[in-house]
Amino acid sequence: SDHNLVYPISPSNMDWSPYFPHFVEPSTTGANKEVEVEQQEPSADLQAVAASEESATNTGDIRRLTKDVEVADIGCGFGGLLVALAPKLPNALMLGMEIRMQVAEYVQERIKALRVQRADDGLYQNAACLRANSMKFLPNFFKKAQLSKIFLCFPDPHFKARKHKARIVSTTLNSEYAYVVRPGGVVYTITDVEDLHLWMVEHFDKHPSFERVSEQDQEADQCVEVMRMETEEGMKVTRNNGQKFVALFRRLEDPPW
Ligand code: SAM
Repeated sequence: SDHNLVYPISPSNMDWSPYFPHFVEPSTTGANKEVEVEQQEPSADLQAVAASEESATNTGDIRRLTKDVEVADIGCGFGGLLVALAPKLPNALMLGMEIRMQVAEYVQERIKALRVQRADDGLYQNAACLRANSMKFLPNFFKKAQLSKIFLCFPDPHFKARKHKARIVSTTLNSEYAYVVRPGGVVYTITDVEDLHLWMVEHFDKHPSFERVSEQDQEADQCVEVMRMETEEGMKVTRNNGQKFVALFRRLEDPPW
């Protein structure tokens, strides 16, 4: 359940400094960040809107980073992809988003331990995990065209037709992914459920902002191997001799007005 999830009212209100302390700009200090806590009561929503209108411009005290998060692993689970990818893309800040509190905390502890182990060379400082419902708050965290990669690895299949609206690929959500991914950026998908694979391909294919990446380019991309072999779900499917269906989608340039 998502009540009490904390999320920023806009990307400029997000204080990333606790997540990526090594990337904090030396000159920025202070901690007057504005966040909202999602409540169940509808009246609280109205109060939150009012609060956001008052505080929208009050972002001066947030400790800024030297660079923006550019990779998101949506539904990151136990963090296998993040941990494998962080040393391969050491200059890219990557964020796992995970809705289950204990799982998100596990990944945070896992990264903390790796950072301590690798204090000498600074590895893993570029990876972090945040507890969030990515289906609801993505544009609160990322501004337009901020991301170069989104990973959707082994998303929950929600087999029954009446549960399809819970899938993390849909016409509406694909528009959110199109908003936060920059032209030339890529959405990576992998699943062991063929029906879900076909669903994801269908929904990205029909979205005007995306085109399918060719199989040749897909197989040349080092992230694909990581997705297949280093995610916890990918390892489980390997153990069970299951199939893995991969599809990548490139964010197209927006057409001129
Ligand atoms: N990506 C990981 C992997 O490949 O090993 C985990 C896959 S697991 C089957 C799906 C994960 O997505 C679960 O950990 C689940 O809690 C998380 N999840 C489901 N809906 C989510 C949402 N709306 N926002 C964030 N995480 C979500």
